[in-house]
Amino acid sequence: MSSAPRSEESVFNQPIAGQLAGVGPRVAEKLAARGLLTLQDLWLHLPLRYEDRTRLTPIRDLRPGVPAQVEGRVEAVERGFRYRPVLRVAIGDASQATLVLRFFHFRAAQVAQFAPGALIRCYGTPKPGQNGLEIVHPSYRVLGDADAGSLGDELDPVYPTVEGIGPASMRKLIGQALDRLPGDAALELLPTEMLRGLHLPSLRQALLGMHRPARDADLAALATGTHPAQRRLALEELLAHNLSLRRQRIALQRHRAPVLAGKGKLAARLQSALPFSLTGAQQRVFAQIRTDLAQPSPMMRLVQGDVGSGKTVVAALAAMLAVEAGKQAALAAPTELLAEQHLANLRQWLEPLGIRVAWLAGKVTGKARGEVLAEIASGAAQVVVGTHALMQEAVVFHDLALAIIDEQHRFGVHQRLALRDKGASGQSVPHQLIMTATPIPRTLAMAAYADLDVSAIDELPPGRTPVQTIALSGERRPELVERIRAACAEGRQAYWVCTLIDDSDDVVAQAAQGTFESLSAQLPELRIGLVHGRMASAVKQSTMRTFKAGEIDLLVATTVIEVGVDVPNASLMIVENAERLGLAQLHQLRGRVGRGAAASNCVLLYQPPLSQMARQRLATMRETSDGFVIAEKDLELRGPGELLGTRQTGLAAFRVADLARDAGLLPQVRELADRLLADSPDIADRIIARWVGGAARYASA
Ligand code: ADP
Ligand code: MG
Repeated sequence: MSSAPRSEESVFNQPIAGQLAGVGPRVAEKLAARGLLTLQDLWLHLPLRYEDRTRLTPIRDLRPGVPAQVEGRVEAVERGFRYRPVLRVAIGDASQATLVLRFFHFRAAQVAQFAPGALIRCYGTPKPGQNGLEIVHPSYRVLGDADAGSLGDELDPVYPTVEGIGPASMRKLIGQALDRLPGDAALELLPTEMLRGLHLPSLRQALLGMHRPARDADLAALATGTHPAQRRLALEELLAHNLSLRRQRIALQRHRAPVLAGKGKLAARLQSALPFSLTGAQQRVFAQIRTDLAQPSPMMRLVQGDVGSGKTVVAALAAMLAVEAGKQAALAAPTELLAEQHLANLRQWLEPLGIRVAWLAGKVTGKARGEVLAEIASGAAQVVVGTHALMQEAVVFHDLALAIIDEQHRFGVHQRLALRDKGASGQSVPHQLIMTATPIPRTLAMAAYADLDVSAIDELPPGRTPVQTIALSGERRPELVERIRAACAEGRQAYWVCTLIDDSDDVVAQAAQGTFESLSAQLPELRIGLVHGRMASAVKQSTMRTFKAGEIDLLVATTVIEVGVDVPNASLMIVENAERLGLAQLHQLRGRVGRGAAASNCVLLYQPPLSQMARQRLATMRETSDGFVIAEKDLELRGPGELLGTRQTGLAAFRVADLARDAGLLPQVRELADRLLADSPDIADRIIARWVGGAARYASA
């Protein structure tokens, strides 16, 4: 994909500096600090709201709290120093009422302007004062008599502030930029008949409609982002991102990948050695993967599966197809604890089949590291498990055919690509399998993963009972201690999860240490363990192992146990400060219990008072355990940026679009993208260049 602007696009990319009157190097620098570099950046610097100066309100009709524009003559001026300097100007109009304008900061020249009888037009929000309504620091203008009553017919935009540039200058700059907006013929890239079908305006109309709405514009629609002008801009932006992801995918598809089309004997042997049979969903997803791997082009598949749905075994089966073909598979996990658990699982499953599973993490150093690297390079290591250490430059695979990434939302796109590049030789790249336990709403997946195929393991293994969840105020902690005592007396195991606002490892570790000590004092009969991120990995590991073996009753932990940790006998979880965690994280944590046959409980401890958002999150957690429902709710509450993480997709960098709000446009976006890619690839490129540019994150794709 070329990122160089075509000549007719150059108008979009013209630098602001030197183009517009009043923009010297200093102003340009301030604009640049806000990411405003080109004319297009100014066109897309959309107003936050509008001020209606297209009409005058008689003073008598003013309402407290309702912004309005008033025109009147100065009746009296009073300058005082009560606590601080103050200027009060009374103006009156034909409605026979008086309004006070109050200033705390003013210059002598200003005072002189307010000569009795002068005609003043001002705009602001009135509020009750000592003598009727007053407006503090209105924006105002002294009018000549000839201008009395003459009004514009457009609403005034209020722009997001740019440090060091006042609102009036900003309006002027953007006004100048808009004067350079080309006509439809040069600007429009979307097919006219399609826009007409959707009742959406042209790009030019949309931009002008946003910056300079007519006095009768639908302000309510503009405020909620549902105005056709906004929808039009969002549509083009979403389209650009969709096209860009699909272009990447098309580019990837041109690469070759190893054809892994063996008989599947190893996978079958693994399956028959497992102590359980696969769920229908696992079988279906494995079959999809198998079909992909048999193709000569690289697989790019995302497997979404709720916590506990059994993704690991599906990954292991996929790895068997690579090993059977005499090639290597790699599995990367975001934390050491999780990677170690994968290692334990894979060794237990694969070593009986005579398969060599190697381990590489940051803490593997010195001689051991050299040996592992050599095994990976020679191909002796058939399956390699590790952390992001796998993605480092020194790691060279003999013949990597399949790169598996677990819990992908923790990795950035770059890391994902880095592992894929490990297997690149000539035109061939490895297949990629990405697994996530954070289900993403379907609409969002369509936008975020237009470059991936998506499968869902939407069924839990049999025999799991849903986790009963309650929310308790922190004051009821003593009751909880009794509850833990009772549960552990019955042979159950429990987690106590410590979280804090300040996520620094040190502070959280300290809090966990404190909780560990106080719980140990209160529950002397229990065997209590502690894990946190500040511990040596070996200590953490051995504590986890002891917990897994049932030799610890209560594990006090930080969120290091969040992802993937599997202890089926643990059936009680307490999460402290649950109000501070997002839904996705709460869901992940809760997924640590309810993995065995016993009925499980989760107690979300919170510190009142709860914010509206926190209240809704806790309610959602009580009401459902369905990861997809939780993801939808999360999207609604937080918006897609936080849900996906900026690092992952850059989706949060949308200028206009808001996936939660504009999800309804996605089917059209997709259809339109299909059409453009098939019929007008050059236009597709121009739309990408316009909105996405040659953003660095795609450079290596
Ligand atoms: P996740 O999808 O959260 O990564 P895991 O792969 O860790 O889930 O699996 C959770 C647990 O369920 C593991 O102990 C695993 O061995 C077990 N498991 C996986 N598939 C099945 C199945 N079909 N039947 C019973 N247990 C299963
Ligand atoms: Mg997992």
